[in-house]
Amino acid sequence: MGTYAITGSASGMGRETARRLAGDGHTVIGVDLADAEVVADLSTPHGRRQAADAVLAASGGRLDGAVLAAGLGPSPGRERVRLIAAVNYLGVVEPLLAWRPALAAAERAKVVVVSSNSTTTVPAVPGRTVRALLAHDADRAVRSVRLFGAGAPTMMYAASKIAVSRWVRRHAVLPEWAGAGVRLNALAPGAIMTPLLQEQLSSPRQAKAVRSFPVPIGGFGEAGHMADWMRFMLSDSADFLCGSIVFVDGGSDAYFRADDWPKTIPAHRLLGYLRRFRGGRA
Ligand code: NAD
Repeated sequence: MGTYAITGSASGMGRETARRLAGDGHTVIGVDLADAEVVADLSTPHGRRQAADAVLAASGGRLDGAVLAAGLGPSPGRERVRLIAAVNYLGVVEPLLAWRPALAAAERAKVVVVSSNSTTTVPAVPGRTVRALLAHDADRAVRSVRLFGAGAPTMMYAASKIAVSRWVRRHAVLPEWAGAGVRLNALAPGAIMTPLLQEQLSSPRQAKAVRSFPVPIGGFGEAGHMADWMRFMLSDSADFLCGSIVFVDGGSDAYFRADDWPKTIPAHRLLGYLRRFRGGRA
């Protein structure tokens, strides 16, 4: 039986995943603002450090996997914009970097980062916001979406999920992760009925946008189904899954972007990558 760290373990998808893993007999170290083994606020540098250290102490320095599910939705307000940048991006990446040696110690560890289909379905997300997050500069990221006014939380939400997805794909293939036996992947859900979505549905303006959004199979997804996907992505059956963003969104991404993906790599870039890979640097 393994030991798993789960952020956002007190609600929604994180809670369902924690339940399943505990039911399978694994040890779960949950991280959340309350009702968790590790109570920590991932929106502050101190809270992220505290969460990272407490999980390492509780795990004895060996983690078979991690699920990074703590996150905030795009509800209105300037403070929300800052919180989204801090929790949805830094609250994923900083703990993961701290846990990497413990994950490598397990030799076959799996990590699932919860992204979103807003990565591909929200138009005109500023590249500078994504770049600022990837540079771990949350203040610059917050400033970069100010001109969107009431739309700023939506832009920051999508940017935070694009940034964590890129972070996953960039790091998954590196010797420190793939080469150390750690599988890094992301799940990209569509609208899932959890307290996060309920918060959006409680605002008439947001509810209208959510309910009119195209979902080819109709309705909303279930937290339990997302947890089943994550349990699979954490299992040995997912050994060959590396750097994938798995969309489970009722068809919205396919509806908007049927012909945009898969997209082949341009020949000149392929040659560069081949040279680097053969030189021993994936
Ligand atoms: P949820 O609100 O049920 O759960 C999120 C959890 O994160 C909560 O327990 C909350 O307390 C925790 N959290 C928030 N801020 C925190 C902080 N500062 N420190 C520690 N913990 C904090 O929401 P959910 O829908 O289960 O969301 C899980 C993940 O899925 C999030 O990353 C969200 O962005 C993503 N997501 C959700 C949907 C959806 O429609 N529900 C769609 C796509 C992606």
